[in-house]
Amino acid sequence: MSEKRLKKSGAAFERAKKAIPGGVNSPVRAFGAVGGTPPFIAKGSGAHLTDIDGNEYIDYVGSWGPLILGHAHPKVVAAIKEAAEDGSSFGAPTERETRLAEEIKDAFPSMELVRMVSSGTEAVMSAVRLARGFTGRDRVIKFDGCYHGHTDALLVKAGSGATTFGHPSSPGVPEGLARDTVSLRYNDADAVADYLAKNGDEVAALIVEPVAGNMGVVPPAEGFLEALRELTQEHGVLLIFDEVITGFRIARGGAEERFGVTPDLTVLGKIIGGGLPVGAYGGRRDIMERIAPLGPVYQAGTLSGNPLAMAAGLATLEALKKPGTYEDLERKGKLLSDGLLAAAKEAGVRVTSNRVGSMMTLFFGPGKVTNYDDALTSDRERFARWHAGMLARGVYLAPSQFEATFVSTAHSGDDIRETIAAAVEVFETLRESS
Ligand code: PMP
Repeated sequence: MSEKRLKKSGAAFERAKKAIPGGVNSPVRAFGAVGGTPPFIAKGSGAHLTDIDGNEYIDYVGSWGPLILGHAHPKVVAAIKEAAEDGSSFGAPTERETRLAEEIKDAFPSMELVRMVSSGTEAVMSAVRLARGFTGRDRVIKFDGCYHGHTDALLVKAGSGATTFGHPSSPGVPEGLARDTVSLRYNDADAVADYLAKNGDEVAALIVEPVAGNMGVVPPAEGFLEALRELTQEHGVLLIFDEVITGFRIARGGAEERFGVTPDLTVLGKIIGGGLPVGAYGGRRDIMERIAPLGPVYQAGTLSGNPLAMAAGLATLEALKKPGTYEDLERKGKLLSDGLLAAAKEAGVRVTSNRVGSMMTLFFGPGKVTNYDDALTSDRERFARWHAGMLARGVYLAPSQFEATFVSTAHSGDDIRETIAAAVEVFETLRESS
């Protein structure tokens, strides 16, 4: 892509690198997987972004999921302003916290008590500690390709071959800690059954993204979530749904509503904060009552339940109540996915689209993607060229093959048609050089 278009962003990136590791505060923003200069963003409005060079984009990242209403939704902006006028933090109870917890409880019947924190990572970390405290067991099962934030306990990749224990996937994660985490293949209920048959009484929790979003979008195979529910129940293991992405995204009540499976604990983030830093965890009352101050498992936060964040979350959840919202998201998601598939087919570029509602991933490969190994067979070099081509044509996609494309209520039919028209051109270039 023409770096001239990103002259100011290029300079801003160089300057940022002198003060911030890699110039970014979260690694994927550096465009490492696709190359090129990340546009520095000046502002967002609805489905559109403007960078500091004045380039405009149709945005399908949506701040990695929170912005289901698009950027700077007037009701969210008004709610934040109103809250700010009254003071930005008290470290004392406020009514907004209760109201947001009530909205969450209403959408997620399994969440009998809800605790607010400030990020998805913090929510996961707290839920895992609680599960260990409640069961008196240490081990945790996760799945290859699922991401649950950067808490030490879950920055663990699969053990190789004969070993069942996990290995740290980052220096700084103690081997001892990683040994308590087991990573199994997504959508493979038999692997869970086998593991639990041998080690069930040592396992505190099984955590899963009920629709995976962090290896690209991978839906649960039919019966997978139900099998996890049965197996965990049988072995006294707590089932944790990580609905940080899926909560209020694939249905108001997330995967719990969409698939009708009830976990013991649920972790939320992203949409419930309306673009401000919020996470939450909650679940069965008898488990949640083990948390301080009711119980001995400790967890706290200076900015937990922050008034501005609660206000943004409440305004977002309120706006999502508009009748037809999820049908509209489904329709737009399908329009985009179908359009991209047709454009790719026309150009003879082999792709696979995985979509659940308004979250989707176009994998650059012909085969079905049902787990992480499948996702890894994608042609990442071709993805990088696709990404650059779309960016140059004003479409802002996540800079990695293994991320989701998010559609918001703010995307118009014209936005989506424009995106497909750009895709037709880009697929054409991919055919020529393939
Ligand atoms: N769980 C899932 C499923 C996520 O996608 C993420 C972040 N993308 C997290 C947890 C961590 O959330 P945060 O980045 O807010 O810490």
